[in-house]
Amino acid sequence: MSEEKKTLNFIEQIVEKDLLENKHGGRILTRFPPEPNGYLHIGHAKSIVLNFGLAQKYGGKTNLRFDDTNPTTEDVEYVDSILEDVRWLGYSWNGDAVYASDYFEQLYEFALALIKKGLAYVDDSSAEEIAAMKGTPTEPGIESPFRNRSVEENLDLFERMRTGEFGDGQKVLRAKVDMAAPNMHLRDPLMYRIKKARHHRTGDKWNIYPMYDFAHGQSDSIEQITHSICTLEFEVHRPLYEWFIQKLEIFPSRQIEFARLNLSYTIMSKRRLLKLVEGKYVSGWDDPRMPTISGLRRRGYTPESIRNFADRIGIARRENVIDVSLLEFSVREHLNKIAKRVMVVMDPIKMVITNYPAGQNELLDSVNNPEDDQSGSRQLIFSNTLYIERDDFMVEPQKGFYRLGPGLSVRLKDAYKVTCENFVLDEATGKVKEIHCLYHPDSKSGQDTSSVNVKATIHWVDVNSAVNMEIRLYDRLFLDEAPDGHKDKDFLEFLNPDSLKVIQGKAEASLKDATTHDHFQFMRMGYFCPDPDSSTEKLIFNRTVTLKDAWQKQKGKN
Ligand code: ATP
Ligand code: MG
Repeated sequence: MSEEKKTLNFIEQIVEKDLLENKHGGRILTRFPPEPNGYLHIGHAKSIVLNFGLAQKYGGKTNLRFDDTNPTTEDVEYVDSILEDVRWLGYSWNGDAVYASDYFEQLYEFALALIKKGLAYVDDSSAEEIAAMKGTPTEPGIESPFRNRSVEENLDLFERMRTGEFGDGQKVLRAKVDMAAPNMHLRDPLMYRIKKARHHRTGDKWNIYPMYDFAHGQSDSIEQITHSICTLEFEVHRPLYEWFIQKLEIFPSRQIEFARLNLSYTIMSKRRLLKLVEGKYVSGWDDPRMPTISGLRRRGYTPESIRNFADRIGIARRENVIDVSLLEFSVREHLNKIAKRVMVVMDPIKMVITNYPAGQNELLDSVNNPEDDQSGSRQLIFSNTLYIERDDFMVEPQKGFYRLGPGLSVRLKDAYKVTCENFVLDEATGKVKEIHCLYHPDSKSGQDTSSVNVKATIHWVDVNSAVNMEIRLYDRLFLDEAPDGHKDKDFLEFLNPDSLKVIQGKAEASLKDATTHDHFQFMRMGYFCPDPDSSTEKLIFNRTVTLKDAWQKQKGKN
């Protein structure tokens, strides 16, 4: 999609207006603020492309900030995976990655400033009492009995919260806003809670941790973020975001909300993704069926295809659900341009060419990628014993079956036309064991002068030089369009029992040298890539996506 043809989305319109008015001296600084409590998923990719893409477009920068204010759920494993995933998507952040925990001291100072202004107080009420006094959207809340403590008492208690004198939940620091505000988030929201937990970066230094609403917005101001872009559920937090900025008289970052990405057949809650990992329903966060960036990478998605997908779905203010087949379309579209075409037989059956001399070989040229002039060609070994796909043969061909059967002819891709003479059955199983064919020497691909009629081309692999390959065929992880959208049923009930099939195939010899970053089209079968566990001793390939959308009505024959 070319930049010029697209109309500006609403966030670009805001940015262009700000630039026109020379707001912040024309400076654009966005941020991507993941909480390191899980791996990034395709929804985060939308936010990454938006934040980094916006800054790139307008000559700005983007901070990568870890929102690490909840020590009990966060971990460095997650930090490392997030750094890797953002880099892999093709983005570099402004300077070093930063952490909300870098600002704990400054945030503490901000809290003291609010206490001194009479705008924050220490509350001894329990969580239950606070909830009970909160009121409802139609009824005002009740003021806490601790609301009118003196500044001195609040300063003293808050300091003692910090030094660890009180236990978890005994006291909290609250902003003194308005217990009757129609917006519940303004009813004296919590700013700090006591949590005697070890933090992955600050260790045991802190006994109190700031709440999201206090940490996030203030971190934006500290970094002088110009446009703080978040998902729609934070719209109701915006008045509080602005209240803190105004009362603290700090840099006025602007919060802008957009609709999060929802994808059909996919779950994106990190809590649920963690459940899949911990319950061993998948092999890990990077299982190729996971909607995580690391899972998509292992599956064979490319950064370009993910960025194109994000561009294609665009940015809006209304929630909707994107069909997962659009994501699959984006990866097919990119792989079609870059994937090398190769031949792999998934369910092999032997074909013997009875009129081709035994022990003789010839090399045949095969174009690597007809979509890419630069991709060159390679040589395939042809002989009298080949593997072909079991489904490409029928003992009693049905009407409309154009591939092989007794008396039928077919073209072997980039090789010769062959005509089936007969077949051998396996006595034990009754299944076809071998197919016998005649080849037509004057039908060589590219110099065909034969008069044999064929209606189909099939793929094949030379038996002697073929390599064994474990092939992992992935399908959608869930059978339901909205697995987490059922009130009465757990999302796990909708797991697709056939989301992974492992088969043993036969591949052309060139695939021995494939590396993890290579992408292939197995002709007629789909797009594949080597799994990171693949080695020259044991080839393991993952199916990235089928050639066509198998979930739509199948139109073509093969
Ligand atoms: P959780 O799943 O634990 O509620 P989260 O998905 O909000 O958390 P964060 O790490 O806080 O996870 O998200 C980082 C950023 O990614 C936030 O700015 C958030 O708005 C954005 N983000 C998260 N999910 C999506 C999504 N589905 N679509 C677009 N942006 C998202
Ligand atoms: Mg979040």
